Amino acid sequence: MSPREPSLPTVKRLFALSQNRCAFVNCDVPLVEDSGTVTGIICHIRARSTGGPRYDPKQTADQRHSFENLILLCNRHSKVVDSEPRKYSAELLQEMKEMHERNRLLELSASDACKAELLLKDYRKIYIRAGGHVMVNSPGGIQAKKVVVKTVKGTVKVLPPDGSIASDLERRNYTKHLID
Ligand SMILES: [Zn+2]
Repeated sequence: MSPREPSLPTVKRLFALSQNRCAFVNCDVPLVEDSGTVTGIICHIRARSTGGPRYDPKQTADQRHSFENLILLCNRHSKVVDSEPRKYSAELLQEMKEMHERNRLLELSASDACKAELLLKDYRKIYIRAGGHVMVNSPGGIQAKKVVVKTVKGTVKVLPPDGSIASDLERRNYTKHLID
């Protein structure tokens, strides 16, 4: 089966070589704080899906989620490079990655391994892979006529919007009682 996300060993290797620093030129921001707060992102040099920045249709899923196609950036720089894909071409990002990883030792302490895992967990949250809730029609939520939810879980549960009668069990039962 083709991979849907970077593997943990790949993220560990990336993290070890990054030494917990954003790969953007002259950025020294950590990716994961000692407290465990994740402030960095696993980024795809050539986008993970159609229409994304620097997307290359010729890439296979394996190549897309491979070590070579991934770069670790801080939150700010991940947004900067994705909002200007012409300026930040795949070649330029590849160069940044190579410069960042050059002459680094591939060493991973137990706490580094733990941080690498946190990075991957956070990545899954971003792409709603962990079975998280997608809030539709709620403040700050997704507003669209049609929402396509792709998930590795077998089923997708649609919960009533917050504040509606259906979301309140007591009121729902009372309404049902009135209707009956
Ligand atoms: Zn940065």
